[in-house]
Amino acid sequence: MNGQYVPHGVASVHVEDRGYQFADGVYEVIPVIAGRQVDAIGHRERLARSLRELQIDPPMTDRALGLVISEVIRRNRVRTGHVYLQITRGVAPRDHAFPVEAEPAIVVYANSKAAGGIGKQADEGVRVITAPDQRWARCDIKTVALLPNCLAKQTAREAGAHEAFMYDSDGFITEGSSTNAWIVDAEGRLVTRPVSHEILNGITRLSLMALVAEAGIEVVERPFTVEELLGAREVFLTSASALATPVIQVDDRIIGNGRPGSVTSRLVEIFRAYVASDNVDAAAGRTV
Ligand code: PMP
Repeated sequence: MNGQYVPHGVASVHVEDRGYQFADGVYEVIPVIAGRQVDAIGHRERLARSLRELQIDPPMTDRALGLVISEVIRRNRVRTGHVYLQITRGVAPRDHAFPVEAEPAIVVYANSKAAGGIGKQADEGVRVITAPDQRWARCDIKTVALLPNCLAKQTAREAGAHEAFMYDSDGFITEGSSTNAWIVDAEGRLVTRPVSHEILNGITRLSLMALVAEAGIEVVERPFTVEELLGAREVFLTSASALATPVIQVDDRIIGNGRPGSVTSRLVEIFRAYVASDNVDAAAGRTV
């Protein structure tokens, strides 16, 4: 935390931290599986991009940040879990405009909460609901301003579902509240929305694209409607913690036969092989 290793219980932020007052900050979540960070380079590249877009100075070099992340994992003895890191514009007297002088504030922590993508959810699939996308016009920046995402996720939870896929005002799916949304079309191609300011360019989305190119599975980047989602042959979602997770029900509609389909099951296996492989940086160089 801001250059020091401190116990989790005493780590706290200032009342005038701009992350706390204005959600003026960015974050990343990096999965750790069997002692290794998955797609760490891609996550740090996207972090750099988010900081650039918001004109927040990186508080340390990418190399130093990499060392800090490894040290936090080591000190917490995390074998499988994740790293959370957040950088805000820093502490300054409250004023909407950027402070002239403020040191960016950084927090990195790790815990052993395992990713769903390597466990039961990947084998059995999850349910999702659809909900209107109520977010702002720069969803490509990974900011801590997640209130609309929290509201969508809560709606899902209350419906007994795992995730909410959000749709725009034209009825096209943007993405999940904390995941990217995918369907498999009748020809077995993977379909997902192209990147724009409307969605976050998921690092897992990018590593999946690299991995399936090697496996000869085709990806089509185009928007798809709620209707198309409901009638899709298969549906799945991706995120750092979900990796590729099958979706077996959307709203009241059962997808396929209610069990993970063959294409998605293959993706689950591709990810399992990937995280156990020597190169866990398939997304590197693809973010920007
Ligand atoms: N979209 C949103 C809105 C998210 O919060 C996340 C998770 N960070 C994703 C997509 C998936 O991104 P990633 O694969 O990098 O975890």
